[in-house]
Amino acid sequence: MGNRVDKLLFTPGPLTTSGTVKSAMLQDLGSRDNAFIEKVTSIRARLLSMANVSAAAGYTSIIIQGSGTFGIEAVISSAIPANGHLLILINGVYGERISKIASIHKILQTRMVFPENQIPDPILVRQMLEQDPTITHVAIIHCETTTGIINPIEAIGEICSEYRKTYIVDAMSSFGAYPVDMEASHIDFLISSSNKCIEGVPGFSFVLARTETIKTCENQARTLTLDLFAQWKGLESDGQFRFTPPTHVLLAFARAMDELDQEGGVAGRMLRYKENYELLSEGMLQMGFKEYIEPGNRGYIITCFHYPTHPDFSFRNFYNSLSDKGFVIYPGKLSQVDCFRIGNIGQIRSTDIHRLLLAIRTTLGEYGITVPLQP
Ligand SMILES: *Cc1c(COP(=O)(O)O)cnc(C)c1O
Repeated sequence: MGNRVDKLLFTPGPLTTSGTVKSAMLQDLGSRDNAFIEKVTSIRARLLSMANVSAAAGYTSIIIQGSGTFGIEAVISSAIPANGHLLILINGVYGERISKIASIHKILQTRMVFPENQIPDPILVRQMLEQDPTITHVAIIHCETTTGIINPIEAIGEICSEYRKTYIVDAMSSFGAYPVDMEASHIDFLISSSNKCIEGVPGFSFVLARTETIKTCENQARTLTLDLFAQWKGLESDGQFRFTPPTHVLLAFARAMDELDQEGGVAGRMLRYKENYELLSEGMLQMGFKEYIEPGNRGYIITCFHYPTHPDFSFRNFYNSLSDKGFVIYPGKLSQVDCFRIGNIGQIRSTDIHRLLLAIRTTLGEYGITVPLQP
């Protein structure tokens, strides 16, 4: 299946997907059909094993229609009881989004806001939990896609476990590319979606949860559609969704999981993404671009670059010119600094990174910005 007529997406999702993943959607399955129910059951089990847990070990997985944010909102609006208190660790727009969800549902929240280029400090988090015993839940973003920074989910998980807090991790843009052990990291709820590092198409999010924790969420939901407990009950009782499932998206996802396995699982995918990142980072540095995040905190999912200081630089023109050449990059979302982002994920390989770098060099040339040629 040739899909090279499409532009390459250097974005954090939707991503460039394989032709075989797209063609897996060319099938109509009834949502009550056994073939479909078996697919869903198998996807749910495979997701758990990616997080190094299983149903037997006390974990479960729940699929929810919609984009990633629907999964986050399902957790926030179903997991926290009326008298709960959520601590949110914020260092970018996705942390802010959780805060906004909590506000809409009138959930008591404490916000710990860190600079966008710094990770939440576990020492300060411990102090906060020590100082305010009313906190019941803690939420953090794994890869804060705003900047690509990697937050210390293991260290914060240790503290949550010590203080017996329910721990919620938005692993949307990292799951499938960063190894995660839910049990070792003391995670109660982990959220990701179909269209990030598992390289499926957009259409659903999924929540991996400790079964004991999800059992406490009955009658806590603040919406009907995003009731995580009811969704779990439905999937557990007859393998079915409460409302129309995205059947085609699930077929594509099952295929995407096969392709992840063929690549060597999370470890194999991590190697390819890391290579993409390293090539990109080196090539951009040679052209004079500076990364926003300091080396120790950088991830390999998405990379945030400062705008060049050249007076003629306009991001809109830069973006359009690259898009005309077949490469889609991503704008920045920082509150203070002018940056743009380039994703390293999806069906992107080293040859694509080389082509992107060449296109960037050509584009800069069009604006009279000359950069030294690669040695
Ligand atoms: C992509 C992403 C989301 C969800 O975004 P949607 O547009 O709703 O799919 C949430 N958190 C993080 C960290 C993300 O990267």
